[in-house]
Amino acid sequence: MAGIAPNARSRRIEESATLAISAQAAAMRQRGVDVVSLGAGEPDFPTPGPIAAAGIQAIEQGNTRYTAAAGVPKLRAAGARWLRATFGLDYEPAEVMVCAGAKAALHMALAALVEPGDPVLILAPHWVSYPALVTMADGVPAVVPAVPEQGFVHDAATIAAAVRRHGARGLVLNFPNNPSGAVPTRAQLQAIVDVARELDLWLVSDEIYGTLLYDGAVHVSPAALPGGRERTLVVSGFTKSHTMTGWRTSFLAGPQPVIDACGRIQSQVLGNACTISQAAMLTACEVPLPDDQARRQRAFGERRAFLLEALADIPGLALPAPRGAFYALVDARALGRARGLDDVTMARQLLEQHRLAVVPGSAFAAPGFLRLSYAVSLDQLREAISRLRAYAEAK
Ligand code: PMP
Ligand code: GLU
Repeated sequence: MAGIAPNARSRRIEESATLAISAQAAAMRQRGVDVVSLGAGEPDFPTPGPIAAAGIQAIEQGNTRYTAAAGVPKLRAAGARWLRATFGLDYEPAEVMVCAGAKAALHMALAALVEPGDPVLILAPHWVSYPALVTMADGVPAVVPAVPEQGFVHDAATIAAAVRRHGARGLVLNFPNNPSGAVPTRAQLQAIVDVARELDLWLVSDEIYGTLLYDGAVHVSPAALPGGRERTLVVSGFTKSHTMTGWRTSFLAGPQPVIDACGRIQSQVLGNACTISQAAMLTACEVPLPDDQARRQRAFGERRAFLLEALADIPGLALPAPRGAFYALVDARALGRARGLDDVTMARQLLEQHRLAVVPGSAFAAPGFLRLSYAVSLDQLREAISRLRAYAEAK
């Protein structure tokens, strides 16, 4: 008798590497080990007061019942205005739905777009969850190898060749990129959109880091470019920019027939994003918090500058400057070669021997690299770098 057992699809789903590493670091900390975690990317700032207060008020006023599956109409309308003001995107409220985090938005998007067996192109380095999310939608993830020598932005010819090779029907984009921090120029992105148009691909564009930019980088959404809007679903929100990580909110925007389909799916698998969190998200949309945002931007900028300087003089390591998000994808290939180690082993040794949690690049299809999240205090980062240096300089 077999009893119950997980099916073949679920067996293909691995646990999120970023969350697993953070859980491991948290468990070590609980045992009293002074581990420094640059694992999962979660800002160290609190959720801004007015946003948290809106959640509290929702509870106090009894705003705690089901909402429409696709979200409170007022929030969908506010989302459309926010997407226009922030990224120049042109959506009607009915083309914007509220999901329970970017992860859930990606899931609804893929569930509505992927036909069983469809190959879906994912550009490496890619955020850990994309292949699993495609698999969950019964698609087949097809990962295009990373191009570190091109600043981690693929050119159109490489993408077109990969689409043809795999027979891909869709492409997942993520700029600013987690883990590389890459931000393409408008022309580079237009070239990718042109490939999508030519080869009739849909695009799912994960823009959750769209407002976290450095060195004058500008975020452009493929949906804002000619030929982009009609084939793109945009995932966006406040998870990272406003530390709404635990609130589980996001926007999914795109052509209405697809958003309607996503709404029908959400109505069956989730119902609605948390009502209290939707009230908080409405405040995030409507109440500008310039001081809070400037403080964050300044802090991230400082940490990034610190890392760029520190990494420039650690033997065997190099850091190509990230232009967005809050990750440093450290090139540890020289160190790995010198030691005969891969990135997974180096990350394990860093944790076991130096009590420093980082994510191996292999989790993002960037073998030989190590991802450091700099969404932690400068003090933590200084300590992390001294541990990393001790590891790299050890004979
Ligand atoms: N996309 C990217 C690129 C991410 O780094 C993350 C991590 N939080 C997510 C999506 C998921 O975000 P959320 O917490 O809103 O589900
Ligand atoms: N997205 C963050 C990261 O890449 C948080 C962890 C996760 O959701 O996987 O670290």
